[in-house]
Amino acid sequence: MQFRSTCSHKSPVSFKEAVLRCLPLDGGLYVPASVMDMRQFFLHMDSETSYPELVSTLAPLLLQGELNPFSASRVAESAFDFEPELKLLDERFSLLTLYNGPTGVFKDFGIVFLAAVLEELLKSNGRSMVLCATRSDTGASIAAAFRNRPGVTTVLLYPSGPIRGLDPATFVPNGGNIIPIQIRGTFDDCQRLVIETITDRPFAERYGVTSANAINIGRLIPQAFYYLYAFIRVKKNLIGDLYFSVPSGNFGNFIAGLYAWKFGMPVNGFIAAMNANNAFGDFIAGKVFVPHPVIFTKSPALDVTVPSNYERLASFYKEAPAVMRNMVYPASVTDAATLNIMEKAYKKYGVFLDPHSAVAFAAAEEIALRLDPLGHFVVLATGHPAREAALVKETTGQTIKVPYNLEQLHRQCDPIALIDPHLDALEGAIASCF
Ligand SMILES: *Cc1c(COP(=O)(O)O)cnc(C)c1O
Repeated sequence: MQFRSTCSHKSPVSFKEAVLRCLPLDGGLYVPASVMDMRQFFLHMDSETSYPELVSTLAPLLLQGELNPFSASRVAESAFDFEPELKLLDERFSLLTLYNGPTGVFKDFGIVFLAAVLEELLKSNGRSMVLCATRSDTGASIAAAFRNRPGVTTVLLYPSGPIRGLDPATFVPNGGNIIPIQIRGTFDDCQRLVIETITDRPFAERYGVTSANAINIGRLIPQAFYYLYAFIRVKKNLIGDLYFSVPSGNFGNFIAGLYAWKFGMPVNGFIAAMNANNAFGDFIAGKVFVPHPVIFTKSPALDVTVPSNYERLASFYKEAPAVMRNMVYPASVTDAATLNIMEKAYKKYGVFLDPHSAVAFAAAEEIALRLDPLGHFVVLATGHPAREAALVKETTGQTIKVPYNLEQLHRQCDPIALIDPHLDALEGAIASCF
């Protein structure tokens, strides 16, 4: 499969080039250039199929000519020492838990794959440097996925504020491959620096710079795999239609679901579950998208005004307007409904939900009632409930144990350098590490 820019159907590139370049030069984002039906390969898989098996079967088909079956197995084995889990709650609802990775969020799935596949793609020709703007947890997730992958230096750019969840033993001056740098500025400054660095060709060329932010297609494609995994587990229990409910902020998780459909997954609909920041629902409904000011909620990862995957969704809309209009259901969930369902899910099913997963659950309940009482709804549980232990306690009265890896996320550390938000300061700070 090749990849093209959202701005142009011309000159598609290979997966390797899309991952290493990260951004096309025309200012767009990379998206799959073709439809690929992999149905015949996953329809015979079943609940015995492990996640690494699924990934190592499908990845080489998807990336034919770039990732052979042997390399794909190596990638899957080295990336996934954790698996998603599909919990059947009743005839109408399942929970797809995606929080079993090193930092307890679904983002681990895309990030560990990107890290493992980069190492594999670079085996023959050298080094790469991965830049990532981060506020907190994603930095820890990237550091966990990239540690001990020696060909890939990883630079994390943090805005002012504490840095959490990193292990100083993994930093470059201590023999590791991670470089945390603090920027005197905001998260937006960090993001701008990442984009400037990867589009400033001489520096990017010299160090082989790419980004591990969600703009990299190498993080999105592997997220389609857990939808397929959910499908092969749930299919034997299906009597009616199948829907996925996805808590959506930057819509990376969501667009990965649409790609799973593109890869042949039989599915009837996707719920774009939002909190009060729901302006993007207008766009899905075919209206003009006018961003609203941000509203702060109990599900902060969904407090997004302009999704970073906006262009990918717009591009998908152009290709398949009927899918977007007839298969995508926007929903908006209040904080009160979020807390309410956290309590209800515990009382009714004995499961703990973090507030983001709760937004998806509440949206699924609402749409199930309105739309298809016989359908089956797979709710994506994107965050470990222990990450929001206080809210879980408040809503369910239960104290949950925080696993060791999540406890470590609170550990603070110092950056390697503190710099002004300028490209030359960044280049100097990076160069001084070698
Ligand atoms: C990032 C995040 C989301 C939102 O995912 P997007 O791909 O940005 O839509 C949902 N839940 C949790 C726990 C997250 O960390």
